[in-house]
Amino acid sequence: MRHHTHDVIIIGGGMVGAMLAASFGQRGLQTALVEMQEPAPFSPDDPPDLRVSAISIASQRMLEAVGAWPAVEDMRLCPYRRMLVWDGEGRGETLFDSGDIYEPVLGNIVENRVTQLALLSVVKSLDSVDWLCPHRITALSTDTDRASVTLDNGQVLSAALIVGADGARSQVRDLAGIQVERQPYGQHALVATVSTELPQQDITWQRFVPDGPQAFLPLPGHQASMVWYHNEDNVARLKALPEAAFIAEMQATFPQRLGAITQVIERGSFPLIKSHAASYTGQRLVLVGDAAHTIHPLAGQGVNLGFMDAGELVDQVLHAHRIGRDIGSARVLRAYERARRGYNRIMIGTMDVFHHGFADQKLPVKLLRNAALDVANRVKPLKHFAMRYAMGLAGDLPSLARGQLPDGP
Ligand SMILES: Cc1cc2nc3c(=O)[nH]c(=O)nc-3n(C[C@H](O)[C@H](O)[C@H](O)COP(=O)(O)OP(=O)(O)OC[C@H]3O[C@@H](n4cnc5c(N)ncnc54)[C@H](O)[C@@H]3O)c2cc1C
Repeated sequence: MRHHTHDVIIIGGGMVGAMLAASFGQRGLQTALVEMQEPAPFSPDDPPDLRVSAISIASQRMLEAVGAWPAVEDMRLCPYRRMLVWDGEGRGETLFDSGDIYEPVLGNIVENRVTQLALLSVVKSLDSVDWLCPHRITALSTDTDRASVTLDNGQVLSAALIVGADGARSQVRDLAGIQVERQPYGQHALVATVSTELPQQDITWQRFVPDGPQAFLPLPGHQASMVWYHNEDNVARLKALPEAAFIAEMQATFPQRLGAITQVIERGSFPLIKSHAASYTGQRLVLVGDAAHTIHPLAGQGVNLGFMDAGELVDQVLHAHRIGRDIGSARVLRAYERARRGYNRIMIGTMDVFHHGFADQKLPVKLLRNAALDVANRVKPLKHFAMRYAMGLAGDLPSLARGQLPDGP
């Protein structure tokens, strides 16, 4: 075998790529993490970022297992205990309460940059990880016994395995010639960080109306993140409104129980696209997170799925390394894909059912979904199972999601 500069090269140091680098690095794998943009440092005086995620309990355990959770807590997070889901066109509603299943919280709302910075603080403390930022790759090649990338400064790196963790527009996926099935939902998400009259709440809510869902995610202090799903034209119109007019439309649309919105800190929008790579693997190459799949964000599962991908890859690669097997072999990569593809497909499909089911105005569909929300609220075992599933506490979980970083070689 020819000489490798590293065991693993990860392209993309977002939340998922940084989780992988922290895990591999702590188990002694020589890892290169290539990221094109250094995230801005955190300051407690800064207002919250626009991009926030509902971090599930399983994802929290993964962050704990790699030692990144204390840094998240030191920066900023907002725990929530309850989640209310209701049909804006009917009477059906379901309240999920963590106390029902004897858990202290359902999850935490965390700014994406906070999660990324916390993981990168672990990565940067490890001698085994080379943090190569700001850099992109200009070429990628693989053959039977190694994989190489060329960086934009001309440096060539080689390893047994390349990981594409470079997000929805993955360059690695394109360079590897992996096809992706993309399907826009025809909807955009308008996200607004706002100041609220009422202090931090411990509840997230989601209301479904035919134009799309509306969601409220609490943030620390008197702040919140509001997400309004709508067609592209309406989102563009809302984004361009003067602040006072925008607040007036929000107040008229979002439930009164949230109290007054006093200020709009930031507004942005994202197109909603469902995508699934035809394969998660290539020769000595593997895709994780948004590079492999993107889903409708209404249930806040995107990064949680990506972390589960990372957890599964960590299990497979560290096991192979422990027993002296080639970590970039097709056998190892296929085992990863087998474990993840079906699960991700189910989650993508479930979001489709929500999206189409609540957009449908036909009476039988309306009655059915109200009945479904009612049943979900009253049949406790069903409700508790759904909660555990969404929190990542049910099913066959990777070691990291059970709070353990697997042994190294
Ligand atoms: C409106 C909206 C709301 C959402 N809300 C939630 C939520 O509540 N909960 C949740 O779990 N998920 C949510 N998501 C999804 C979540 O943001 C993504 O699933 C998550 O960011 C994916 O993480 P990632 O690390 O795979 O990719 P990314 O976060 O996209 O990170 C990719 C990284 O790779 C870098 N990169 C890209 N290309 C290159 C290259 N060529 N070379 C080097 N580096 C490169 C980028 O700079 C970036 O740092 C939401 C998404 C949207 C659109």
